[in-house]
Amino acid sequence: MINEILSDQEMTRYCRQILLPACDIEGQEKLKQAKVLLIGVGGLGCAAAQYLGAAGIGELTLVDFDQVELSNLQRQILHATANIGDNKAQSGQQAIAAINPEIKVNIITTKLVGTSLYQAIERHDVVVDCCDNLATRVALNKVCFELKIPLISGAAIRMEGMVSCFDYHADSPCYQCFSHLFGEQQLSCMEAGVLSPIVGIIGSIQAAEAIKMLTGIGTTLVGRVLMADISTMSFREMKLNKSSKCIICNP
Ligand SMILES: [Zn+2]
Repeated sequence: MINEILSDQEMTRYCRQILLPACDIEGQEKLKQAKVLLIGVGGLGCAAAQYLGAAGIGELTLVDFDQVELSNLQRQILHATANIGDNKAQSGQQAIAAINPEIKVNIITTKLVGTSLYQAIERHDVVVDCCDNLATRVALNKVCFELKIPLISGAAIRMEGMVSCFDYHADSPCYQCFSHLFGEQQLSCMEAGVLSPIVGIIGSIQAAEAIKMLTGIGTTLVGRVLMADISTMSFREMKLNKSSKCIICNP
């Protein structure tokens, strides 16, 4: 029985996705069996989690130790005014449960470092990086490289954003190869500002790439960096090669 694991309810819920020849029942079943770890339930994370949850990722783990603030609500669309003061992972969990009660949403409300980060990543199939700082990005890349678990990396600030995917195959570049190119420019949204829809655009692209990575649909952004500038509404792409100087994937 090919559709044994999808209930009638699920067949109806996901029918527009199942209609896609590239996805089909088989793809939807893969999504149901998938476990995705999402780091950061802020602007990018809210958009990515909303689509991943609605699309039927069987198990979604939201990680955030931060609380919802009034100044987040302009762009962090899973959190409502009534959630101010609540933990972001918890608030995200409630919002996704309301959208799709068929899936399991776990939360981690503490900071993941060292062993706890390793153990969390180990029990998932894909990591979606929606964090807001370089130290976390670098740490995620290191563990994902060790475990060979794909990483979908996204960032947005002002009216600009970027996305890339890392699958850690022998010839593929890693996030460190990428950050090595740009050095350590670090500005936060608090300092530089951010226009609301850019986080939705980038977070949605991250969700699409995670779904593609899990189902084998299409071609992912492995070896490429997609850059968006919504002030001119232009999208550019940069080829990303494995760096011969990379301390993670090419020691
Ligand atoms: Zn590398």
